[in-house]
Amino acid sequence: MSDHVFGRSTKGTMPTAVKGEGCYIIDKTGKRYFDGSGGAAVSCLGHSDQSVKDAIRAQLDDLAFAHTGFFTSDAAEELADMLVARAPEGINRVYQLSGGSEAVEAALKLARQYYLEIGQPERRHIIARRQSYHGNTLGALAAGGNAWRREQYRPLLIETHHVTPCYEYRERRDDESAEDFGTRLAQELEAEVQRLGPDNVMAFVAEPVVGATSGAVPPVPGYFRQIREICDRYGILLILDEVMCGMGRTGSFFACEQDGISPDIVTIAKGLGAGYASIGAMLCTETIYQAIANGSGMFQHGHTYHGHPLAAAAGRAVIRAMDERKLVEGVAQKGPVLEQMLRDRFGQNAHVGDIRGRGFFRGIEFVADRETKATFDPSLNLSGKLKNAAMDAGLVIYPGKGTIDGKHGDHVLIAPPFIASEDDLAEMVDRLGQAVDKSLAA
Ligand code: PLP
Repeated sequence: MSDHVFGRSTKGTMPTAVKGEGCYIIDKTGKRYFDGSGGAAVSCLGHSDQSVKDAIRAQLDDLAFAHTGFFTSDAAEELADMLVARAPEGINRVYQLSGGSEAVEAALKLARQYYLEIGQPERRHIIARRQSYHGNTLGALAAGGNAWRREQYRPLLIETHHVTPCYEYRERRDDESAEDFGTRLAQELEAEVQRLGPDNVMAFVAEPVVGATSGAVPPVPGYFRQIREICDRYGILLILDEVMCGMGRTGSFFACEQDGISPDIVTIAKGLGAGYASIGAMLCTETIYQAIANGSGMFQHGHTYHGHPLAAAAGRAVIRAMDERKLVEGVAQKGPVLEQMLRDRFGQNAHVGDIRGRGFFRGIEFVADRETKATFDPSLNLSGKLKNAAMDAGLVIYPGKGTIDGKHGDHVLIAPPFIASEDDLAEMVDRLGQAVDKSLAA
């Protein structure tokens, strides 16, 4: 390994990935790893997809880059049309970026500018949820509710406010139905809006199905409808972050479709480029767009690679591949099969507290004691052990740490490629079983 690489971790070594083939990544020694999490829910088409490679090559032959301050491109325009055709009701405009954090950052700035354009400059507060992740740039990090990621940057972060996440396994009281739990959380949001002053609140930000921080936590039925109502009642923008759970991962193109609501702004990334290009997007309603069009006429934002033709060509090819091969429908069909496989293999395990998720977006939370839901001591580093044992077993799986306060257990996030067959899923679950048995025995 080069001494000059500044990697994610300064400790240890990693295998060198040299090739991708369908559901597998192959390292320099020839070892094959089933990509069971797509990194972090990125590789929805699997690796080395011919149609996407061809589309990127064709775009490269024509034009790699033309600055969006001067030009538009067919690739970016067609991608915008394709996204809007699949978007939640009312979403009509697409701003293309290079990744998820950029998309969230742009969403927060757009929300602020929208209120300035319509003469409500007092609206500045952002409310989000604990146990959430919205990215690593400073605005997105401030919105995120992941305490350990925020801690050392606290002096640099804008003030945000966090309410209880819709995390049924840990937050629902024993004497409460799922519906009552959702209502209690919605009331908590409303109380927070009242505390901050309804005319001062700009946006509520949430992941429909929570990814990295908690391991594929879906909302309880009715929760998001109540959240939508509160946002409407107080004129607050609802920003849904579908960077991880969007692009078909949960069995519908946008995850929020399954909750029967539309946001004002929605962010996507990861599965949009499917690992073939760095691309993200922020989508918004025509109302927001027109406020700017009829006001200053310029969104005060921008990045050099905004609307990059090569990235847009990749995104366009990814959506075409999903359509032609009916991959999202396949996720909807095979998601329950995957869930059953996980329940069969891990349901009786004394250290598995919860198995959850939607579609090909699943999580398993581990506990020291199933009755009390006590978490493992973080110093045992169970999630780290799971990651390493999975790599030994030839499986890439996304680990998540438990929290020191014992409010959240170690977990793994499972997000296989949409092309995975039932046999592939069985292979993945088998390798995961080996890794779990080894880590819990250690
Ligand atoms: N939002 C969510 C929900 C995410 O899961 C992530 C990344 O994991 C981000 C935003 C940030 O995306 P990126 O890593 O592409 O900047």
